[in-house]
Amino acid sequence: MTDASSTLHPLERLPEEWRAWVTARRHPAYRGDQVFDWLHGRRVADPDRMTNLPAGLKRELAAEGLAPPALIAHVHRSSDGTRKLLVELADTSRIETVLLPVSSSSEDGEDDDEDDVVAREAQGHAAPTASAARVSQCISTQVGCAMGCVFCASGVAGLKRHLSAAEIVAQVWLAHEALEPDEALRNLVFMGMGEPLHNYDATARALRLLTHSRGLGLSPRRITVSTSGLVPELDRFGTEFGGKVGLAISLHQADDAKRSALMPVNQRYPIATLLAAVRRYPMDRRRRVTIEYTLVAGQNDGDDDARRLGRLLAGMPVKVNLIPMNPIEHSRLGPPALPRVAEFQARLQAAGLLCFVRRRRGDDVAAACGQLVLAGERPNARFVSRQPRG
Ligand code: SAH
Ligand code: SF4
Repeated sequence: MTDASSTLHPLERLPEEWRAWVTARRHPAYRGDQVFDWLHGRRVADPDRMTNLPAGLKRELAAEGLAPPALIAHVHRSSDGTRKLLVELADTSRIETVLLPVSSSSEDGEDDDEDDVVAREAQGHAAPTASAARVSQCISTQVGCAMGCVFCASGVAGLKRHLSAAEIVAQVWLAHEALEPDEALRNLVFMGMGEPLHNYDATARALRLLTHSRGLGLSPRRITVSTSGLVPELDRFGTEFGGKVGLAISLHQADDAKRSALMPVNQRYPIATLLAAVRRYPMDRRRRVTIEYTLVAGQNDGDDDARRLGRLLAGMPVKVNLIPMNPIEHSRLGPPALPRVAEFQARLQAAGLLCFVRRRRGDDVAAACGQLVLAGERPNARFVSRQPRG
């Protein structure tokens, strides 16, 4: 029997692959759709609860083992409603995924993504209300990261391994366990540990599963993939998903030499090459690419840096998110003082750019990307982050 889908974790199979799987076992093809519906539409992994399936198929599914390959090791709750889930994988590796409540009072259109909402909250325009029930989830794609950005805990840790599509999707399943009854998952941002485009195949498959109309059916417009700038994979991503998935670019510097010092990936794909790929990304003209700019004191927060960035991005359909760096262990780098952040923002706005300061959220559960996991991997785990400087 040539059944390619049998090499996939059951959670990774798309409806057509489930149809192939059931027909190879002499069941009618529509049973495959039913299995997918149970798994991805209702997140039911126990075949005994799949009430419309015949007993024989349930037994075959039970032998297959459908359970998600991940569990919640710990939930860290912040006073601002942020929940950081420490997730343990089958090989005991740990990753993290974060749930961020977003305000319902900004329900004003498709482009109103998580970043916009967080930014508006930061500017005091949209205070969260008691009825706010929308939640944005930040997803990890790797254990650690190979890209080596100097301000990032995942980069400092290095790449341990890629996540499988099942492990990426499992984060969304687990998030549902941590949602309050009145909350709904609204946005996904691929901004957790790892570089999504370095783990292209698993990321792409997870996106197909999560957006499938028979499953969770998340709109690709409500999903943002963030990349440090792997240009060939970015081109492939734009082509394969037709530019429907939101894009965030981690730029962090407008000068090549300085960017290479912060982000080694810049040596392979320098700024002009990266921005040419961003211009090619086939996104709807009414939407904007997000430019992420982690402000690191003394590294990229000067007036010259702002001027260069303003010139570089002039006329591009982008919005800039300034993120004061969360301090990480094993690094002396940190965020600028708040007046410097405000000045940097003001200069970009004066240059005509749409520019927000992202409010730091969940500071009291752990700070930046990957930090929680690093803390958890040491014997004297200290999950509560230091207060950021500045
Ligand atoms: N690898 C992808 C996605 C994960 S990182 C990328 O780099 O885009 C998500 C975002 O968090 C990136 O913009 C990254 O620069 C930022 N980030 C990483 N460490 C940070 C820190 N210590 N403080 C603030 N932002 C950080
Ligand atoms: Fe990797 Fe992104 Fe961290 Fe850079 S910022 S090391 S690409 S996770």
